[in-house]
Amino acid sequence: MIPIKLVGSTAKSAAKPGASPAPQEGISGAAGAALKYLQPGALNLTALPPLSLYIHFPWCVKKCPYCDFNSHEVRGSFPEEQYLAALRLDLEMALPLIWGRKIHTIFIGGGTPSLMSAAGLDRLMSDVRTLLPLEPDCEITMEANPGTFETEKFKSYRASGINRLSIGIQSFNGRHLQALGRIHDDNEARRAVDIAQTHFDNFNLDLMYALPSQTLDEARQDLETALAFAPPHLSLYHLTLEPNTLFAKYPPALPDDDESADIADMVAERSAQAGYGRYEVSAYAQPGRRARHNLNYWEFGDYIGIGAGAHSKISFPHRVLRQARYKQPKAYMEAVQAGAPVQEERELAREEMGFEFMLNTLRLTGGFAPNLFAERTGLAINAIDKALNAAEAKGLLYRDHQIIRPTQLGQHFLNDLQQMFLED
Ligand code: SF4
Repeated sequence: MIPIKLVGSTAKSAAKPGASPAPQEGISGAAGAALKYLQPGALNLTALPPLSLYIHFPWCVKKCPYCDFNSHEVRGSFPEEQYLAALRLDLEMALPLIWGRKIHTIFIGGGTPSLMSAAGLDRLMSDVRTLLPLEPDCEITMEANPGTFETEKFKSYRASGINRLSIGIQSFNGRHLQALGRIHDDNEARRAVDIAQTHFDNFNLDLMYALPSQTLDEARQDLETALAFAPPHLSLYHLTLEPNTLFAKYPPALPDDDESADIADMVAERSAQAGYGRYEVSAYAQPGRRARHNLNYWEFGDYIGIGAGAHSKISFPHRVLRQARYKQPKAYMEAVQAGAPVQEERELAREEMGFEFMLNTLRLTGGFAPNLFAERTGLAINAIDKALNAAEAKGLLYRDHQIIRPTQLGQHFLNDLQQMFLED
């Protein structure tokens, strides 16, 4: 449902299974003095990035045929109490990795977190506040799907501290919603946005385009309906057939390349006309309404992920750690009870840092300031000079002393541009 789940892995990743969390490391003012004792290849981060918290809720009413997220059909009921207890224990065990660091943003994603009861969500938020210091203006987003919207429940979510909703509308057209296997119809989609608007001043609508047999006019109508609600943020995704989904096995009739390109052009033009700035491949925002949580991913910030299948990226003065938790909800809850929810853990190698950084930041249309590279990777920018020069020569990248960003051409051939940094 959200693009941020894709940022953590590279084709080159070789995880180290079964490793346990590392002991506590603080950022020390003596980092420079300690440098001479560093192992060859160690990093030197002068400051730690902002830290976000991701909480995964792994159940949905029904599995959508295009979905490759870690989501599982409820089939009757789900063990809310047991899962909440596991989340708390998981977080408690992760604390030594992030002692003293404040939480910049929180994202409760899934799955369908809005299946959680109001009391359950309140307990989760109270556990988080007890265990972690939150920044005063912490953005706290929850994903919600139409078909699970009840006014009282959402009022209660707001009272528990959720201050931003991300709603998986996907389409306002009943026929397309059916083709996507969604549990809601067009009326429920509109009702969900109405309820969100009543209780939340900050919300995002997820919309997909290039849907099975969708015409340009139908895509335009979907976007116009969304714009009529004046959402602060829009995520506009091109439907893609992901491996290991029902759509990959039985592909529906999709618009051809030319038709898809026309729809994508219309989406870009119309959203800009309506005052939405496109700041990432699929993310559009009114001024001042960018998603701070997602931005932290794209700026190669840190995140601690708890819950089934959640990923973490945590920086220390001289290394960057990646973790993945057990994916199946049952296996995850058992692993938490056994004191080891992390299934895979590894340190990023110095040689991987440039690609990992660029994989994320090149998604941003405005790019990044060169000093962010040194701050987040612990390397000098000339570590990726060869690839920067090559990308610039091909017209894929613009760079000066203040900014490095993909050109229009680079945005169009983003995969190729990112790959250049893998080879560097
Ligand atoms: S509701 Fe979202 S997470 Fe759940 S199956 Fe559908 S696309 Fe996947």
